[in-house]
Amino acid sequence: MKVLIVGAGIAGLSLGFELLNQGAEVTLLEAHDVAHGASGAATSYMEPRLGTTAIRAVEWEALKRWPEFAGAIEQASGCDAGFREEGQVRVAIENTLSWFEKDLSQRKEQGWELERLDPQQVSEMEPAVCRDVVAGLFLPQVRWVDGRKICSALAAAIVAGGGTIRTGFQVTGVTATGTGVELNSACGDIVCGDALVLCTGTGNAFPGAPRDMPAVRPVRGVNLVVGMIGLARPLRHIVKHHRGNLCPRGDDRLIVGTTYDPGETALDASADVIEKLYRNAEPILPGIRELPLLDIWCGLRPKVGDGQLFVGRSSHQPNMYFSMGHAGAGYLRAPVVAQDLAELILGTGDGGLLKPLVAG
Ligand SMILES: Cc1cc2nc3c(=O)[nH]c(=O)nc-3n(C[C@H](O)[C@H](O)[C@H](O)COP(=O)(O)OP(=O)(O)OC[C@H]3O[C@@H](n4cnc5c(N)ncnc54)[C@H](O)[C@@H]3O)c2cc1C
Repeated sequence: MKVLIVGAGIAGLSLGFELLNQGAEVTLLEAHDVAHGASGAATSYMEPRLGTTAIRAVEWEALKRWPEFAGAIEQASGCDAGFREEGQVRVAIENTLSWFEKDLSQRKEQGWELERLDPQQVSEMEPAVCRDVVAGLFLPQVRWVDGRKICSALAAAIVAGGGTIRTGFQVTGVTATGTGVELNSACGDIVCGDALVLCTGTGNAFPGAPRDMPAVRPVRGVNLVVGMIGLARPLRHIVKHHRGNLCPRGDDRLIVGTTYDPGETALDASADVIEKLYRNAEPILPGIRELPLLDIWCGLRPKVGDGQLFVGRSSHQPNMYFSMGHAGAGYLRAPVVAQDLAELILGTGDGGLLKPLVAG
């Protein structure tokens, strides 16, 4: 089966990798570059949200599959994916203690592995963190990956496995041809396949797209990238606080995030937004303004409805599929979404853990 995938973010790339591994022929079409969308701006840590719904079950299973998933990508590509398992240190200062205690008791109820830390233990684990921290919590299950690295590694693995990736290929229309699909592009080229999967993030629908393609609302997120060279010891864990998080990228860079800006689509952050990120992080990492600001990442989280994952077959076009609505958790859920959706498309599975959630 030849599967055409539109969109080379984490959704399209991870699905392409799985489809190839399961024996399909794969072509990815991307309007810009690999990880041009939300996937290139993400903090990309994996922390299941609180709760016990079907989507939380997907998140916990995905978290479990991540080490093997990242290992398979690294092996197939020969590239480092920046996958890390050092865990998360959550911290509270005096005026955020009630947030911290409530979060801690919910995690206990839901069976999280955790270790309460006193301020001395926090400072041993993360010496750069503020001395005003009054309580801490270590969550060893939280992991992260370098989003840009793993997207590049996935692209390399797809090409090495015989798949095709065409960047600069903006899909402008699709026609169902009876047994398959035909895609038109802004550059005039036409590509044919047996099935189509839309992994278009916040991209617009195009003529011929299935009628049940959902409306997607962008929720902008901004991250600062700062150098850690000025710190006596670089951060080793994700540090989460009431107003955001600090996530290491190797030993030399730190991602300082993250904003949640519904309805905002500008892909350059204003001075106010940058100031807000500094102000939020400063009570936890007092030296942050002295660290060099290396980059500012803006991305649009693709949100459908109230945050529903929208995956599965179109009910109007039997050989067209969706992998949309990844909102703020596209990295976390990727191993399950890609593996279970690939089986559904190839007819070798019923959607697995996605079954209660699939569209169509
Ligand atoms: C600041 C920020 C922090 C985040 N942190 C985390 C986190 O810590 N953990 C986590 O799990 N998730 C996180 N996310 C969310 C995560 O980034 C998204 O869920 C994920 O990247 C969505 O992937 P996607 O492939 O669906 O979309 P995208 O990455 O947006 O990719 C869609 C691609 O489709 C292409 N495209 C669209 N239309 C067309 C067309 N017509 N023709 C060709 N190509 C097209 C676009 O160019 C784009 O490259 C974060 C997001 C942001 C913005």
